[in-house]
Amino acid sequence: MLQKEIQIAVEKGDMLPLMEEFYTIQGEGYHTGTAAYFIRIGGCDVGCHWCDVKESWNAELHPPTSTDVIVANAKQYAETVVVTGGEPLTWDMAPLTAKLKAENLRVHIETSGAYPVSGHWDWFCLSPKKTKLPVQEAYDIAHELKVIIHNKHDFIFAEEQAARTNDKAILFLQPEWSKKEEMTPLIIDYVMNNPKWRISLQTHKYLNIP
Ligand code: SF4
Repeated sequence: MLQKEIQIAVEKGDMLPLMEEFYTIQGEGYHTGTAAYFIRIGGCDVGCHWCDVKESWNAELHPPTSTDVIVANAKQYAETVVVTGGEPLTWDMAPLTAKLKAENLRVHIETSGAYPVSGHWDWFCLSPKKTKLPVQEAYDIAHELKVIIHNKHDFIFAEEQAARTNDKAILFLQPEWSKKEEMTPLIIDYVMNNPKWRISLQTHKYLNIP
């Protein structure tokens, strides 16, 4: 394909800058412990200083890949697909999610919610970031709110974000990996005192899987 054609296909969401894709166990949040095929899309300018996938930020490093190819790969492995990044909503997710749904796959997203929502999602995991807050629609449709706890102020941020999120969303506090020794005991206390919250751990990192 010509460069111009690729650029147009990416703008339409027919091609996406694919960083990696792999079949594994969902490590965090509501669906922890369940098998899923992960599709990691490059591109994110939210800029979390503790981000553990900084290689994803520059979309130009990741080859524009046809959504047909991504879907063909996914359907060989799993019934559930998790679209993550980077920030997947940087791109138009409508073509990818339509094709995944046409194959009867369950489609989940993990997003900061910082960009307008596109695509159709069976599970919308919203993980807001202070540097670029979610759009209102993300708060409205989230099934799960997952707030990363890096320091004590993040508990205040978590409550602010919960107040903006629809009241059916399941609420999680998750220690930022590099601060887990310090923050996990505080999260345990916080959840016991505020039982609307649950703890999410990055169990894939304990299991040494992607
Ligand atoms: Fe990293 Fe996610 Fe933050 Fe983007 S939103 S910088 S991918 S943690």
